[in-house]
Amino acid sequence: MTGLADLVRSRMREVPDFPKPGVQFKDFSPLLADAPVFAALVDDVATRYSGRVDVVAGIEARGFILGAATAYRMGLGFVQVRKVGKLPPETYAVDYELEYGTATLEVSSHAFGPGQRVLVVDDVLATGGTAAATCELVERAGGVVTAIECILELSFLHGRDRLPGREVSAVVTV
Ligand code: AMP
Repeated sequence: MTGLADLVRSRMREVPDFPKPGVQFKDFSPLLADAPVFAALVDDVATRYSGRVDVVAGIEARGFILGAATAYRMGLGFVQVRKVGKLPPETYAVDYELEYGTATLEVSSHAFGPGQRVLVVDDVLATGGTAAATCELVERAGGVVTAIECILELSFLHGRDRLPGREVSAVVTV
């Protein structure tokens, strides 16, 4: 494990049975509150994708934090991928499966220039449904997904299986 991964692990709080029984919630609030570690995380992501992407897309809500900071660090723009009903028209929408029921994500239909290379950012990759829906949205809006980057991958949930052929990277994998 890299030094950064150790640092991230040490600033991650695990909260059992939140927001519902059986879920072990990964809380990155301590990491975000620790300026040197937050900066090291953003610098790492920005360095790895330098020259490979044109814009960063973050998934509501926690993907906004790392995504926007990374975009700023790279000198790039930031696009919001939001829960349904938050963005003004015109938007594209994609429905996806949750453990119970479905959810919908939206992106502005004007978010990307044709062929713009997009880095998709979120905090946690779990079952991969959120990331897969985001990739579909980005591509429907004319972007090209270069990679999906997350702070933590829960590999036992096999999120990568929902993202065949995609470049997926996590700072920490459990
Ligand atoms: P999934 O679509 O199953 O990959 O879930 C990923 C989305 O749900 C991300 O936007 C995460 O913020 C959130 N998420 C899923 N599982 C967890 C967890 N154990 N702790 C914190 N956030 C999670």
